[in-house]
Amino acid sequence: MKLTVTGGKGGTGKSTVATNLALALAKKYHVVLVDADVECPNDHILLSAKLENEEKVTLFKPKFDYSKCTKCGICVENCAEHALLQFKEGYPLLMPTLCSGCRTCQLVCPEEGAILDDYRVVGYTYHTKIYENLELVTGKLENGEERSYPTVLAARRRAMGIKADIHLFDTMPGTGNHVAAAIEDSRVVIAVTEPTPLGVHDLEMILKLLKKLNLKAWVVVNRSDLSDISHEKLVEKYDAEIIAEIPMSDEILKSYVEGIPVVLKYPDSKAARIFEDITRRVEEVISWT
Ligand code: SF4
Ligand code: SF4
Repeated sequence: MKLTVTGGKGGTGKSTVATNLALALAKKYHVVLVDADVECPNDHILLSAKLENEEKVTLFKPKFDYSKCTKCGICVENCAEHALLQFKEGYPLLMPTLCSGCRTCQLVCPEEGAILDDYRVVGYTYHTKIYENLELVTGKLENGEERSYPTVLAARRRAMGIKADIHLFDTMPGTGNHVAAAIEDSRVVIAVTEPTPLGVHDLEMILKLLKKLNLKAWVVVNRSDLSDISHEKLVEKYDAEIIAEIPMSDEILKSYVEGIPVVLKYPDSKAARIFEDITRRVEEVISWT
């Protein structure tokens, strides 16, 4: 079963929810936690784990053989990303960070062998065994790289290649295609929010997306005692359901500082019991199949 934890904006506690839920589920199931927050993956930090088994994520980039290039400019005209530059009577030049790797330039070039295959590293994936029943797949962008989608896809592919009862995805913030790539096919998507005007605004964006994709949406309100702002009407509007409210607590704060998730560090705390409740809800979904 595929399950996703997401959030409209960063800093809502999405990764805290994902790691604690993964640990709670791993007591009974074989879980692969997928950290698809490739710009800032931190599930391994919350789990005090070292990233292992690195694999590169590469994208095609054109390599020009200027001895065969006639400077016709067709490749430059057809590059939708404007990643190719050509000065008067000059050879085409590549600006690698703008290149999407679409290969259009190579396809339209009339001179055979003028554009050869080359590759650039855009990110990495890792596979780390946390416990017998819990594995972590992490996607991480190369420094300075802006294209997150290929690395999210690579992490997803690597994770789905591992046999498990539950694949639990932790997405990037926002509602872009990198998030859609992670939440696709999820049985349930858990949107983590907080009671602030920005939290409400971003929750609406993510609930809108989930409704459009026809995905079952649950909401977890983190730091629920931060204000009196209510999410009830919004959640009702998008046929979602609030399944948990997590108040601020010393246990969560201490477990965060110590790098030991609250379900392990303080298993009898109120916060840990909330994660056990969410786990039971997930088990209900599993039992539908
Ligand atoms: S399309 Fe081919 S031949 Fe024409 S400028 Fe580009 S690389 Fe050179
Ligand atoms: S691979 Fe695509 S984006 Fe990159 S230079 Fe060629 S046409 Fe442009």
